[in-house]
Order: sequence, then structure tokens, then C-alpha cells
Amino acid sequence: MTHSPSPSSSHSAVSADAPNTLNHPALAAQDPELSALIGAEEQLQADTLRLIPSENYVSTAVLEASGTVLQNKYSEGYPGRRYYEGQQNIDPVERLAVARAKSVFGVEHANVQPYSGSPANLAVYLAFAEPGDTVMGMALPMGGHLTHGWGVSATGKWFRGVQYGVRHDTGRIDFDEVRDLALKERPKLIFCGGTALPRTIDFAAFAKIAHEAGAVLVADIAHIAGLIAGGAHPSPVPHADVISTTTHKTLRGPRGAMLMSREEHAKAIDKAVFPGLQGGPHNQTTAAIAVALHEASQPSFRDYAHAVVANAQALAEALLARGFDLVSGGTDNHLILMDLTPKDVPGKVAAKALDRAGIVVNYNTVPYDPRKPFDPSGIRIGTPSLTSRGLGTQHMPTVADWIDRGVAAARAGDEDALTTIRSEVADLMAAHPAPGLPAH
Ligand SMILES: *Cc1c(COP(=O)(O)O)cnc(C)c1O
Repeated sequence: MTHSPSPSSSHSAVSADAPNTLNHPALAAQDPELSALIGAEEQLQADTLRLIPSENYVSTAVLEASGTVLQNKYSEGYPGRRYYEGQQNIDPVERLAVARAKSVFGVEHANVQPYSGSPANLAVYLAFAEPGDTVMGMALPMGGHLTHGWGVSATGKWFRGVQYGVRHDTGRIDFDEVRDLALKERPKLIFCGGTALPRTIDFAAFAKIAHEAGAVLVADIAHIAGLIAGGAHPSPVPHADVISTTTHKTLRGPRGAMLMSREEHAKAIDKAVFPGLQGGPHNQTTAAIAVALHEASQPSFRDYAHAVVANAQALAEALLARGFDLVSGGTDNHLILMDLTPKDVPGKVAAKALDRAGIVVNYNTVPYDPRKPFDPSGIRIGTPSLTSRGLGTQHMPTVADWIDRGVAAARAGDEDALTTIRSEVADLMAAHPAPGLPAH
């Protein structure tokens, strides 16, 4: 890490946002029950320290774009080739989103229609494999994603999933193991990327193996797309044949997804998304993706992406200093996976206690976890959301301290300590308003 923005510059660079005036008056009048729930969620997101690494705060502009009359329109097909009339405005919206995706990620082709990350990945299977084919990805308990061929997923039921992991001693991917498995199993697809990987993904190493094994390499950058867009993680271009991403994690857009590739795969991908897998695209989401991609092309987003990583590394250091056991010993990106075994608290107990303390995390398996996935040894945290609120490296010792005290309180069953943390968290959060949230 070389880039470490000053507190003042990181604050203005990452949390500048027009005030949210969407206080849903019509909804409040017509459906007070639902309106109250949304208001309560706004308050919860404002007051709590949100550390789930796949979450973020979108800007008011992204929220506005996603709540529009674009919602009312059917647009099966692609710009200029639709199955419905009246696309005078929808076609330019989708063309804009596609052009911005191509520009931000430096790719030849982009499809912005997948409803979310899981359907995007399913479209990749449809484009490049037949049911029963062998596919390879990282095992879910090692940090992979369900859709990379894990057994309970359609991708593991309809395809033959073979799975790689990380080394027990280093917590990192062993490329000799990946290569041996790929050459033995000859998968059609190799997925790299995952949901609990704190280290840089070596796309070139995966590409070399995929090439040797005759497999299509899919870089699933759902978690790190914003870091890549902001230059804080190496790009999978030109190593990967297909790039799959969600738009709602570090990329800070609406819930949605994109598939990107070189021109040679454009047709196969487009056909797989529609008509292969989906019907009409969610045009309001397409518009909001275009807004998020515009934001991601700004210099301030580079500052944001680098600040996310600087914060994660400062937080990792502060946690290590407090005796926490971090998988792989630290982080290169936005995410930290910790094994709470030495703290003598199960991950779920810690996560639920931290939630009561106003710190929102998720419990997570750690590699070679002796406990069950529904009651694992670890918790997973990340810095995308707190960085969007303008918190900087100077705040990370405080955050680590809260986690330390929260985990200790979880072990001791000390509810008063959790309540004290909750009010300290709320004070700091009040001083750092989140993008997109109305003033309460
Ligand atoms: C989040 C994620 C997905 C799935 O995205 P959804 O929008 O939840 O379906 C796929 N792959 C990876 C690596 C992810 O992190």
C-alpha cells in the first residue's frame, strides 16, 4: 500500500453526497406499516458500524435512478434488437451503461442485464458448458462462492464440481494444487475469486493453468470490482476469458451484475443471458448501474478504493495487536477473515453479540474449520461501508477496540458492555453521515 489519503481528503473524497430527499411521502401516506420499516432500516444503517464486506452505501443519485419509471418498461432483447416497441429512451440508457462498463474496466464487451451475481454466473455455465461437464472453483468453506460448483447449488447439482482450497499453513491458494487438479480433471470452466479471500488474486497464474488445461477462465470479481475500477487491485483483463461481477458490493451500485469479455465471447454471453436464462432486463437497475459506473470513473473513486484497502490494512494491524488470529495473517484488499478459536468464542456468538453492540458482521467458516457452516469458528469483516462514510485509518484502532471489547463481552455474557459500545458507535457514526441516507 502506497496511497494513504489524509483524513480530510478521504472524508471529502468518499462521502460527498447530495442530501437524500427521498422520504417517500406517498408511501408513508398509503402504507404506513411498510414506510415505518423502511424508516427503521434507514435509522439502523445510519446508527450502526456496518462491517459486512459485501455491503456498502450507494449514493443518493444511484438510489434516485433505481426508483424511476424505467421500472415500468419491458425490453427483452438488446439495444436496437428488442422484442417490444417504445425503447426510445431505454436503448440509450442501456447503451450508456454498457459504454461506461467497457470504459471503466477496459473490456471489449459488457452485458449489464444479469439480475444479480448468481444468475450472471449461471449464464456463464450456459454459455460455455453442458450439464454434467466438469467445472472447477474454490470450495465454499475455503472462501469460494456457492455458484462455483458447490454441491447444494444448481451449479454443483447440474455440473460436476471439483474444488480447490487454500493451504492450511499459509491460508493462501496453492497454485501447484490448482494446476494438478486442473490437469487431472480437465474442467470446462475454472472460476477464480470468492467471498472470503483476503488476498490479491493472481489472475495471470490462473490464466496460465486454464490455458494449459484447455479451460475457460472466469474471474468472479463480485467482491473486488470497485477496487479494480479504482486501481487498488490488479485487473483480470486481459487474463480472464470472462469477467463476472455484481454491481452492489465495492462497486457501490444497485443490486445487479455484469458479464464482461473479449469480443470473441460476446455472442455466447449475450445469448446465454437472454434468451437463455432471463426475460426482460430491470431497466431501473441498468440506469442505476450506469450512474454507479460514472461515479466509479471519477478521480474521487480511486481515492475511495485505495482508502478501503488502507483502512482494512490498518484495521488488520490493530486486530493483530489485540491478539486476533487473521486467516493468511492479514489482508491485501477490503476484507478480513478471523478465526475466533483462540478467543474461545464461536463465530455466531460473537457476531450476534457485536450486532447488539451496533457492529454488523457475519459469522463465517475459516479454512479447515472443525465447526459446522451454520455455527463456524470465524467472523468476516470489511471496510467498504465505513470508508463510504469517510472513516479513515486513524479510526481503525477504535474499531478494533470495539471488536475486541465486543468479543470479550460475548464470552463473558456482559450485556452492559455491549450497550456501552453501541452508544460509542452511534456517536462516531453520527459524526460521519452515510451517503444516500436521509437526515433523521
Ligand atoms: C456476492 C457474490 C456472488 C453472488 O451475487 P448475488 O448477487 O448475491 O447473487 C457471486 N460470486 C461472488 C464471488 C460473490 O461474492
